[in-house]
Amino acid sequence: MKLIVIGGVAGGASAAARARRLDESAEIILFERGKYISFANCGLPYHVGKVIQNRDSLMVMTPEKFLNRTNINVRVEQEVTAINRDRKTVSVRNLTDGSEYEESYDKVIISTGSSPVTPPVSGVDDKDIFRLWTIPDMDKIVEKISTGAKRALVVGAGFIGLEIAENLRMRDLEVTVVELMPQVLPTLDQEMSVPLRYELEKHGVNVILGQKVTAFSRDTTSGQLAAALDNGAELFADFVIMSVGVRPNSELAKAAGLELNARGGIVVDEKLRTSDENIYAVGDVIQVKDPILGGDTMIPLAGPANRQGRIAAENACGRDSSYKGTLGTSVVKVGDMTAASTGWTERRLKQAEHEYQKVYLHPSSNASYYPGCGPLNIKMLFDKSGNILGAQVVGNKGVDKRIDVFSTAIQGGQNVYDLEELELAYAPPYGSAKDPVNFAGMVAANILREDTTPVYCDAIPENAMLLDIREPAETELGVIEDAKIIPIGKLRERLNELPKDRLIVTYCKVGLRGYLAERILKQHGFNAANLIGGVATWKLFHPERPDVNPGTGQTCCAYSDKPVTSVLPDDIKPVKDIDVSPMQCPGPVVRLKQELEDMENGQVLKLKANASFQTDLESWTAATGNTVLSIVPDGATIQALIRKGTGSSPIQVVGGAAAANNGATIVLFSNDLDKAMAAFILASGLATTGAKVTMFFTFWGLSVLRKENPPTVSKDILSRMFGWMLPNGARKLALSKMNMLGIGTEMMKHVMNKKNVASLPELIVNAKKLGIKFVACDMAMDVMGLTQPELIDEIDEIAGVARFAALTREGGNTIFI
Ligand code: FAD
Repeated sequence: MKLIVIGGVAGGASAAARARRLDESAEIILFERGKYISFANCGLPYHVGKVIQNRDSLMVMTPEKFLNRTNINVRVEQEVTAINRDRKTVSVRNLTDGSEYEESYDKVIISTGSSPVTPPVSGVDDKDIFRLWTIPDMDKIVEKISTGAKRALVVGAGFIGLEIAENLRMRDLEVTVVELMPQVLPTLDQEMSVPLRYELEKHGVNVILGQKVTAFSRDTTSGQLAAALDNGAELFADFVIMSVGVRPNSELAKAAGLELNARGGIVVDEKLRTSDENIYAVGDVIQVKDPILGGDTMIPLAGPANRQGRIAAENACGRDSSYKGTLGTSVVKVGDMTAASTGWTERRLKQAEHEYQKVYLHPSSNASYYPGCGPLNIKMLFDKSGNILGAQVVGNKGVDKRIDVFSTAIQGGQNVYDLEELELAYAPPYGSAKDPVNFAGMVAANILREDTTPVYCDAIPENAMLLDIREPAETELGVIEDAKIIPIGKLRERLNELPKDRLIVTYCKVGLRGYLAERILKQHGFNAANLIGGVATWKLFHPERPDVNPGTGQTCCAYSDKPVTSVLPDDIKPVKDIDVSPMQCPGPVVRLKQELEDMENGQVLKLKANASFQTDLESWTAATGNTVLSIVPDGATIQALIRKGTGSSPIQVVGGAAAANNGATIVLFSNDLDKAMAAFILASGLATTGAKVTMFFTFWGLSVLRKENPPTVSKDILSRMFGWMLPNGARKLALSKMNMLGIGTEMMKHVMNKKNVASLPELIVNAKKLGIKFVACDMAMDVMGLTQPELIDEIDEIAGVARFAALTREGGNTIFI
């Protein structure tokens, strides 16, 4: 048997080697048009970043070694230019001397791979626009950096774009990534990619999303290379790397009359045989079966190419092997994070209009008490029978293990109920007794068994009431707009505050306590559901900085403003050193708050925490008047220095006697919208200067504190009349002038919204964040027949005139509105 293999890297080299192992007597010729065979193309970005120092280690096999070991006739720099099926020969051009010849065959295996797509934009053939596909491509980039290049632009935020961006940063280049889609790594669903974008920014990569490069040009005076974007911005760089996708190298197959699909992929059967029974094809160039939903797809990955090469060789040598299809299981390193996926994404399922359900989870990578654990963001898609359709995992640790379990489960035909039962290796440094994959199965099975009613962050029912059941220290970090807060420990005693005629969507940080609260409510007759994935998933759908794209005429967008450094400054002497990394939510923030309590303003605390705590740490310190001086990422953990709030900070963390006369009391007597707003704006302004501010609500001013949907409270007729007369909360207040039966008020709200002026409910939330104290006047409440359950939870005190007098003495300033 004479076997010709075309293409000498992943699929081709595997096929040739397997064929030799099966048939010692076969004549095997491997043609490769490049200089190298079997090189590690997946390692190319890492040599650019000097992670792989030695260039030679990328040459997994040389032609000489291959010949010695396998007795395969390797012909590099020889391009197959035609497959002549009529006479069973291939035409070959020797690229070193231009000579041409024909070689006969019994069987052919095509593994010609794919090539990077070059978008048709002007200037794309500039000498400093590179691609990263082969060893020579890599050499050109390395050489460009060695000539002193400082700024690189990467076009495309897929696997290769992200890998090269990270590695260019490791060479200290200024790196900008531009991506057409509104997300990085489009193999994930958009929300799952959010942590990766932050991770890139944390490592100093500028990320510009939702923009396409429309042209490249050279600046006429400076000669600099410029890329024009859709939005009119221009990005200057010393060189550009294009990584916007691949297309199959199927010209040979097409010219030979083999069947291709619409995207140019070679059509093969499960034996990997093309439409010619003597010709097989493998790797990036072929169309494969989707083992989950059937149908055809194309997935350019090294693992499938290698396995297909082996199968095609077996069939060419007379065995009977079948290829079952490609799930697309993939993994990529992005800074200190890893992102992985297998099977279908939600985006594809929606496009295919295929029924699906989903779960989000944020479990710990391993036992939360073991140092160095980090949260995983897991999304799993499944159908109503429990079949797993796909999974995505993003996190700092243990991502690869979990995605491989999901992938294996899918391939083994297991469903979500099987995931609940999977026996997986466990010891504290590696996992949890209930592994995150078990958890994914349990949450999905709970939905299918109707133990829980799922509500998703991207589809909260219109009239639903959001109920935040986290601890007070957690809710200080912010709550979802309009959510009511009742910590889970108080839920049973405060059921009377909840409506029975509305859907109540409970939520916590990751979804677990939300589920417990949902179960409590349901068993007390409430219509309750759980927000799947809790605040952690909510944040994926509502990123804090949704758009950092530059406007026009900028060279790049802003770097992350986080105080990330590589070492902690040694001139600052912390008075405390705590490690909250083994703690489960809300442990870290509660411990931090407690530790700061007995420290003096200005003193510094050193904190070790899981990397995932960084965002919470920054929000919490900002909201409580403390300062993060420095953060050092260290794999799955961070080390941070935090200075306790000083006089110049908005609010103290806790206690501490306020300086006399450094405060104000604002008495709100009115329930006119404009006056109430003025009161809150003044109060907030004072609070940001470090003043201790109290708002004292009396008579009509109490309307601001009324709940929109107060619980039913039994009252006498006069009190009920007052209730009808008073507006039900901040949203219902009207203007003092020009109300015009409410038209004026609505017009004012519209104008304020247009001009980005905060609404009264927003001002109330902000006031709480600034630490402004709300005191409701008990005498006025009594007169007007108002009771505490009818007022919002944000009230700090119900007090009388004595308390008001004390506040005035303490603060020194009183404003009456
Ligand atoms: P290739 O390995 O590309 O081999 C095709 C070969 O055929 C080429 O060398 C080409 O020169 C040769 N050829 C083409 N036409 C002819 C002809 N007419 N005559 C002779 N020779 C010809 N995949 C992963 O799964 N994980 C990763 O981390 C990963 N990282 C990657 C990083 C980079 C920078 C690149 C470029 C790819 C990466 N991939 C990764 C993708 C993976 O390398 C490919 O999916 C895999 O190599 C495809 O194998 P193949 O045999 O189909 O094609």
